[in-house]
Amino acid sequence: MNHVTFSAILLALAPSLGAGAPGPLRTDTLRTSVGDLGITPLGHGSLMFLFARKVILVDPYGAVIDAASLPKADLVLITHEHRDHLDPAALAAVSRPETVVVATRACAERLPGCRVMANGDTLTLLGVRIEAVPAYNLLHKRDNGQPFHPRGVGNGYILTFGDTRVYVAGDTENTPEMKALTHIECAFLPMNLPYTMTAEMVVDAIRAFRPRILYPYHCGAEDCARLAELLREDTTVEVRFRVPVPPGQGK
Ligand code: ZN
Ligand code: ZN
Repeated sequence: MNHVTFSAILLALAPSLGAGAPGPLRTDTLRTSVGDLGITPLGHGSLMFLFARKVILVDPYGAVIDAASLPKADLVLITHEHRDHLDPAALAAVSRPETVVVATRACAERLPGCRVMANGDTLTLLGVRIEAVPAYNLLHKRDNGQPFHPRGVGNGYILTFGDTRVYVAGDTENTPEMKALTHIECAFLPMNLPYTMTAEMVVDAIRAFRPRILYPYHCGAEDCARLAELLREDTTVEVRFRVPVPPGQGK
């Protein structure tokens, strides 16, 4: 898609994106070898990508998105079954009958007709290669000793748009699999304790896999402030803080 067309779509979306949403939404544009990619963090773990006139949503969550004002999705990716990621009412509100939903096995019984992906699976939809990667806790556990996110249950997703790889981590910590990733242009990494990462874990991860752009997400203002402090003199990554949600929302 040429730039004019892409801008026209964003312009058409702009009034609805702003109306009634919990905070002002901002869309960034990333140039890829196959056209422009629009990136709109919607709050908490919810994201929207606009690519080749298609709308891709990740984890639409009714507590942070204004579902009725968003464009209907062509593709929705669900990272795991927790309520702030799998929200059937929000999903229904952003879907059309043709919308393709990709989710984990644990989500599938609540999402009839979804395409199930497990860690390591790949799939190409709408011309976008999708790779499901592990998302799990190393340290943070419930009182019963179980990790908030056990290994093998949740997915992160790497989306490949031409030459550009975008990593949406899901709810995870700085796992060996994350740290071994390569050629990530843009990474969405979660904070908010105790469920996902500390700011220090985020720094450890990005110093290993070196994304060019980091979007902290699924986090609050305090997490962002701590991360900003840690990365104050780091010029190797561009950090983009967007739409923080008050601490304590979701898990
Ligand atoms: Zn979560
Ligand atoms: Zn979770």
